[in-house]
Amino acid sequence: MSKTTLSLQELREYRLQLQSLIDPLKEKISELEAEALRPTAGAEKNPDKMPAHDADPETRDTEDQAALAILGSEQHIMAEVTQALARLDAGTFGACEKCGHAITKARLDAVPYARNCIRCAREVEA
Ligand SMILES: [Zn+2]
Repeated sequence: MSKTTLSLQELREYRLQLQSLIDPLKEKISELEAEALRPTAGAEKNPDKMPAHDADPETRDTEDQAALAILGSEQHIMAEVTQALARLDAGTFGACEKCGHAITKARLDAVPYARNCIRCAREVEA
């Protein structure tokens, strides 16, 4: 079990930072869900009410896919933030899940929900 090198004050700051991410994320996810799940079949029955750009089904599909892709990444970040808060509670926040080394402050400042140190994160990407 590795120990984090972060002070209580620093941990408190990361917790606040993570918590401040949650509400805007929730808002964005519910907006995107509404956008992505908007029924297209029913809308076709009211062509008068359709905005011009929605007339082309291909455009519509692309927009749906884009919304779904963003939705997926927002949901992913939301899950990461939730798990980072759980690590704060468990006292393992700031330690790389893979190698156990401390994640640098610079990295946590950029990505407070980072679960791996920069070295392991690069290995995962490679
Ligand atoms: Zn690591």
